[in-house]
Amino acid sequence: MGQYSGKCFCGAVEFTVTGEPVAMGYCHCESCRVWSAGPINAFTLWQPSALKVTKGADNIGTYNKTANSFRKWCKTCGGHLFSDHPPMKLVDVYAAVLPTLPFKPGIHVSYGEKMMSVKDGLPKMKDFPAEMGGSGVTLPE
Ligand SMILES: [Zn+2]
Ligand SMILES: [Zn+2]
Repeated sequence: MGQYSGKCFCGAVEFTVTGEPVAMGYCHCESCRVWSAGPINAFTLWQPSALKVTKGADNIGTYNKTANSFRKWCKTCGGHLFSDHPPMKLVDVYAAVLPTLPFKPGIHVSYGEKMMSVKDGLPKMKDFPAEMGGSGVTLPE
């Protein structure tokens, strides 16, 4: 079983994830774009029990604009860490903070809100797959 270490930009917060992600891919939604200040957010979704904060737990800030996403960052450097998604009962650990995890994206979500096209041949969901509560509609690249 894999174990992968991650840390924030400054190193005040460290954590591990154990096992394998439930899903990996890219989110194009406006919330991810504006919060991350990037055109696309690379996500890895895990069971919450897979994530253990090993250093600096009291240094983690939380903001939830909606009940769907509780976004976490390091209070010292502002580096983003992960987001709890209570309705999905999953936690999104940003791929960028898991340097040793082999990132194998399988899907693009919220492509209907995209600012940047990605022609990589992966499925492009207008919002989310039906099994995740979305419309299940796919869009052209
Ligand atoms: Zn930090
Ligand atoms: Zn998003």
